[in-house]
Amino acid sequence: MFGLKADWPLDVSPRYFTLEDYEGGEPRWCPGCGDLAILTAVQRICRDEQIPPEKIVSVSGIGCSSRFPHYMNTYGFHGLHGRAFPVACGIKSRRPDLTLFVATGDGDCCSIGTAHWVHAIRYNMDMTVMLFDNHVYGLTKNQTSPTSPKGLSTNTHPEGAWLPPLNPLGVTLGVTNVSFVAQTVDWNPAHLLATLQAAHKHKGFSFVRILQRCPTYTGKMYDEMQQDPSHLNLLTHDKGIQVDPAVAKMYKTQQEHNPLDLAGAQKLALEHDPLPIGLLFCDPDRPCYNDHTAVGMDMPVEDKLTALEKELDRFAI
Ligand code: SF4
Repeated sequence: MFGLKADWPLDVSPRYFTLEDYEGGEPRWCPGCGDLAILTAVQRICRDEQIPPEKIVSVSGIGCSSRFPHYMNTYGFHGLHGRAFPVACGIKSRRPDLTLFVATGDGDCCSIGTAHWVHAIRYNMDMTVMLFDNHVYGLTKNQTSPTSPKGLSTNTHPEGAWLPPLNPLGVTLGVTNVSFVAQTVDWNPAHLLATLQAAHKHKGFSFVRILQRCPTYTGKMYDEMQQDPSHLNLLTHDKGIQVDPAVAKMYKTQQEHNPLDLAGAQKLALEHDPLPIGLLFCDPDRPCYNDHTAVGMDMPVEDKLTALEKELDRFAI
């Protein structure tokens, strides 16, 4: 567990936060790693929204992406492998006033963290979840992950991964009470930023799968998509992700999709070429579990003690 700068001024006067106020330790990701673009987008959102750094918590599990909290000058929790979700849900359940960013990788979320991932979707607590999907375990040097495409050569499968990959969007969209699911790519900063902005604004569990480049182990995986944007299908709708028309123009393949259409989103989630980017699903009316866990939290301490004593009296013999 780590926190803010020791010399942070304790004044309560209005402050204007600059990007530097959200910058933590110097990122130690490999040069060209897609993680850097995601970090920059989150810091930009924090600055644009003027969220006080002490009101933000960055939570992660284990993996390259999970170094994220070290690079944010906010409160942070770099937890155990696959356990970012229970930590984040715990924080949100008692401190709903805090802004939560969860950084998780395809190994962390879709393998060891699967049970927590599924139930966190159902709890629908208000947080922005970023799945950094590079299709490989990068931190431990190139093993097959649940999202590795069939045939990808890794240290654990030098002759190629045997199984078809798990589909993170399909899984998320299949969980009861799912409320926000989007997909974007790290190499289009405008779309990445707009997607994370929408995720941050959404009240509930916002799940964003980000195709993330790992130049060290899966260097050429997205070359085709980068060189020929027609491999991506830009989802458009007035309730969807809005990008500048100049950015949208890059994508010859576009499709209008109503984010309230769950069946349509599930169908889109199965598509790989062109791969849909944008908002697949959003229902702002799904119940958030933190609305229940936070009931009565602003009661005076005396009232809390009285209520506690009353409860304990029920067990007196
Ligand atoms: S191994 Fe890959 S994902 Fe990990 S920091 Fe390096 S480039 Fe990024």
